[in-house]
Amino acid sequence: MSPYPQPSAGLLPWGEALLAHEEGWLAPWAVPSRAGGERLHEEAEDPLLTPFQRDRQRVVHSRAFRRLQYKTQVFVNQEGDYYRTRLTHTLEVAQLARTVARALRLNEDLTETIALAHDLGHPPYGHAGERTLTALMAEHGGFEHNAQALRIVDLLERRHAAFRGLNLTRQVREGIWKRRDTPTSRHLGYGETFDRQASPFLEAQVADMVDSIAYDHHDLDDALKAGLLHPEDLRGVALWEEACAAADERLAAAGPRADRAERVRRQEILRWLRHEQLRDLLETTRARLAAAGVTSLQDVRRHPQPLVSLSAGMLQRKRALERFLEERVYRHWRVMRAVSKGERLLRRLFQAFLDDPRLLPEEYREWVGEVGLERGVCDYLAGMTDRYAAREHRQLFQVEEGP
Ligand code: MG
Repeated sequence: MSPYPQPSAGLLPWGEALLAHEEGWLAPWAVPSRAGGERLHEEAEDPLLTPFQRDRQRVVHSRAFRRLQYKTQVFVNQEGDYYRTRLTHTLEVAQLARTVARALRLNEDLTETIALAHDLGHPPYGHAGERTLTALMAEHGGFEHNAQALRIVDLLERRHAAFRGLNLTRQVREGIWKRRDTPTSRHLGYGETFDRQASPFLEAQVADMVDSIAYDHHDLDDALKAGLLHPEDLRGVALWEEACAAADERLAAAGPRADRAERVRRQEILRWLRHEQLRDLLETTRARLAAAGVTSLQDVRRHPQPLVSLSAGMLQRKRALERFLEERVYRHWRVMRAVSKGERLLRRLFQAFLDDPRLLPEEYREWVGEVGLERGVCDYLAGMTDRYAAREHRQLFQVEEGP
């Protein structure tokens, strides 16, 4: 016999039970899953999944999600198997997001889904790719990765007979948009979609906040592993020094049988860094919720400042660490070489397709007919993985010798 409830109209008892369970658990300022009924195209509820769980399933099954595996975070994919890609970055963000959401009794499914989707709009070759598309599209409505992520989930994914896109709930779409009310976002038709006056709900604030906690931590890890940095270079960076002191205490406490390999010490340091930021985030956020007298979701939407936040002291130390990363890692010549290659390659592809749209695959030739040449080519390029872009470049520009 099937372990699943038998289908009937609307939500089955299982879905109802999940919603009821959630209502007993969620804080009064959380977004209840029951509110997730609004989608661009009307659909019957899923019998087994609550609305945000259904969105999570759709995001994880999307092509754009799988492509994150071959998109650069900071270190290009070909550099080695250990480094983060956008996919592993995304999984780390989702994990932190769930931890924080649960601790604050927020909607975990909603927070996780926003985190899983938060980087879907990033083009290949990391920030260099984004810079390049932004420059190339300057005269044609612009490019911005949050708006691009919305285009992906609303238009570019094709998995359902009845509609284009993934047809996600309004809340997940708003979380993906991140309230970046940019000219590009307005040009692409997202100007009036969401209530621009309201502050983001806490689940979206959490997903946004833990993104930077995740990348501070893993970019440092990857840079040390890649030898772009040595631990001594970080002397004077306050957070790092505190983390080292805490790690050495732990190593001392572990006694003579402690694993003293350098890479183990590095993990002890980095773990402290992550945990300390999380601890600070939870403490500060709880204090802010109490100080602001927040008792409902409406209070959150009306509160003008972010409620999910690090303390001023932690923010200051975190910024110092990020300035260090900016100077010493993101502008390191080895990183710059890889990104400048990506930049050149995207420019040449963009121009080649503009000069002769017949070079586009059939699906995108049709798409260009619907949305215009530059926007259609931009959608095509933004969706590429690093290696797919390199393959396209080879096909278009490399002259093969005959037999
Ligand atoms: Mg991110």
